[in-house]
Amino acid sequence: MMKTPLTISMMLERAEIFFPKKQVISRMKGGVVRHTYKEIGERTRRLASMLKQLGVGVGDRVGTFAWNHHRHLEAYFAIPGIGAVLHTINIRLSPQHIAYIINHADDRVLLIDDDLLPAIEAVKDEIPNVRAFIIMTDADELPETALAPVYHYEKLLADGDPAFPFLKDLDEYQPAGMCYTSATTGQPKGVVYTHRSTVLHAMALGLADTLGLCERDVAMPIVPMFHVNAWGMPFAATWFGSTTVMPGPAFTPNVLAELIETERVTIVAGVPTIWLGLLQALEKGRYDVSSLTRVICGGSAAPKGVIRAFEEKYGIPFIHAYGMTETSPLVLVSRPKSYQDGLSYEEKLDIRAKQGLLALGLEMKVIGQNGPVRWDGKEMGELCLRGPWIAAEYYNDERTKETFRDGWLHTGDVVTVDEEGFVKIVDRTKDVIKSGGEWISSVDLENALMAHEAVFEAAVVAVPHPKWQERPIACVVLKEGKSVTKEELYDFLRPQFAKWWLPDDIVFLDEIPKTSVGKFLKRKLRDEMAARYADAAAE
Ligand code: ADP
Repeated sequence: MMKTPLTISMMLERAEIFFPKKQVISRMKGGVVRHTYKEIGERTRRLASMLKQLGVGVGDRVGTFAWNHHRHLEAYFAIPGIGAVLHTINIRLSPQHIAYIINHADDRVLLIDDDLLPAIEAVKDEIPNVRAFIIMTDADELPETALAPVYHYEKLLADGDPAFPFLKDLDEYQPAGMCYTSATTGQPKGVVYTHRSTVLHAMALGLADTLGLCERDVAMPIVPMFHVNAWGMPFAATWFGSTTVMPGPAFTPNVLAELIETERVTIVAGVPTIWLGLLQALEKGRYDVSSLTRVICGGSAAPKGVIRAFEEKYGIPFIHAYGMTETSPLVLVSRPKSYQDGLSYEEKLDIRAKQGLLALGLEMKVIGQNGPVRWDGKEMGELCLRGPWIAAEYYNDERTKETFRDGWLHTGDVVTVDEEGFVKIVDRTKDVIKSGGEWISSVDLENALMAHEAVFEAAVVAVPHPKWQERPIACVVLKEGKSVTKEELYDFLRPQFAKWWLPDDIVFLDEIPKTSVGKFLKRKLRDEMAARYADAAAE
């Protein structure tokens, strides 16, 4: 067989050749803009030619600091197209982390959305190696800025070459992209994706048993493009010739609902917080979201209540998936097997609320206290992974040796595996509550609480305990206008859990602290609760 390399530019080239009429639709501040893949192809080539003129060479890193829109998509292809490395920077990181990752990645050029300029200006004196700043703006002129030298994205493109050829003789193992994970402690850790891993991962998104993304889809990645490449969806949707809808800057649940209705979106992908918000918008407003054929949910556990609401109220299949920055991210997708069709809706919901079956091409093992766990849905162990789109190391980082051992990625996720091979994440190794030599899954308790009709969000954390080592405390945020007492919540939990699993206390909060990507900030909550109960114990 031939040894033709799998490169990122071949994805865009296919869209240019076979789907030149299909569109990328972006909601920008001034309204919705539409480009065909032909236009996106030409604009991408213009950008690639100008990056090269600015001195970006093979292997150089180029950072993006942007929302989901067509210009960001052009950067997705232009940067790897000249052999450089696309470094998507999380716009929600602290200034200190932003400066750290720009320097750690050694970004040569930054592409920045105009409304996000202040965050980069704030660190301008700490990032001396950046040689050029390109501002992505709809305005004709550059905004006032202290950054230098600065370029206007559209003016740069106007000078570019629309027929610029992408680099051909690329090794598929060459770096194409990088993304930093927001470590819970310490500095973020960088993961480098290769051309090959990006292409194989995109291909996997097209399989019927994963997301089944295809040409007929109108795909809207809501998960940010700075967050594991929006789960690879922009690459895959372009390659497959799907219509791509980009929600643009600072969107709200109402904006998403409107886009789904007007653009007849068929597939959306995002974290549970997005779906909670969208459900609330759908309850209040009258939106037609009947075009949706599936909602893809990952990043943290999908509460059963949310799955049920989408399916029962709106008739939209809800698909639960799992992954992480280190895994590109697709690893698990939860779709019951054909011979499980005869199960009741509730039984199938139990399966679908798990994170699912291993995507093909990957290998897994689950290691518990005493070696590999039994596939009984009960024994807990850490999920370890191998495969062509699983990282082998962190970029120039000492912490590689903690996570990557014996040829496996140790995910830090505690899971059970049932008899059919469905994996259920029961916790993070650091969040699981270690009570009297047994493990209590904080996630199970949270899901149970969030299934109560008055509960909007719930987070369960461990507090130190003199006798049991750790005990669970539940923090609950109620839905607007709803009320429930602590006792009522205990009555609700009691039939579902062993007595020793029940939280020692249930605390009502106005909100749960969140990370930059909308996940519960358990560390903060744990510290707060530890202080609270230490005080209580002292009194
Ligand atoms: P991502 O960017 O995909 O959210 P991160 O690297 O920020 O990835 O975080 C990955 C972690 O998120 C996983 O290790 C796991 O703990 C958690 N996670 C991802 N998907 C799920 C899911 N479907 N259910 C529960 N936890 C999840």
